Amino acid sequence: MQVVPVADGIHKLSQGVCNFYLIEEGGKLVLVDAGAPADWNLLVRTLPTLGRALDDLEAVLITHAHSDHTGFAERARTTAHVPVWIHETDAAVAKGARPPKNDGKARSYLLRAEFYRTFLSLARRGATRMIPIQEVSTFADGETVDVPGRPRAVHAPGHTPGSAALLLESRRVLLTGDCLVTWNPLTGRLGPQIMPSGLNHDTPQALRSLTLLEGVPADVLLPGHGEPFTEGTAEAARRARAAGPS
Ligand SMILES: [Zn+2]
Repeated sequence: MQVVPVADGIHKLSQGVCNFYLIEEGGKLVLVDAGAPADWNLLVRTLPTLGRALDDLEAVLITHAHSDHTGFAERARTTAHVPVWIHETDAAVAKGARPPKNDGKARSYLLRAEFYRTFLSLARRGATRMIPIQEVSTFADGETVDVPGRPRAVHAPGHTPGSAALLLESRRVLLTGDCLVTWNPLTGRLGPQIMPSGLNHDTPQALRSLTLLEGVPADVLLPGHGEPFTEGTAEAARRARAAGPS
């Protein structure tokens, strides 16, 4: 299933590995994340099935500057003429600057079948490199972004320096990006957890950032990788801490 309703007016879209979300509010649409570059086709196929068109799209919000989340954002920006929003600290990388180093080594996952499945799935869909977003709008921690749904940014760094979760307060939904996920794309581990060290800029900081998420008033967490978690932010943070790094 590539398109699944996951909360009131919210659909999860995925062709494997990474999720992106379509939020409906008053007949308008906002995307949170932009999958891999080739996932554009999934978006275009999905809109008519929801009775919508590309014209209804008002904005794209990106949780962090990684190529399996920025995917087709530049294409959406230039085709649908919509702004692309990202936390100010990840803006330069989203526009094509060199990303900072990660604190783990990819080679420590080479014996994991999940590592190859993830890599091949993303490579097939063009996500092995970042397509720069030529113009971005930026938000800061605590800022309410003036787009349909009025998501509020919760800066929770570690996975990347500008990683942010986005809160839809009236729906009690938190889109967590890669600040907290429920499936580990390198080891296959399930359940709330931070991303694996090989993909994190700063793993200890990612663990500390769980404190920033646990008080956020949300029951449903929609992660960048894995299935929705419906037991609330406090329980998600508790389980992620217990799971520890990978
Ligand atoms: Zn990421």
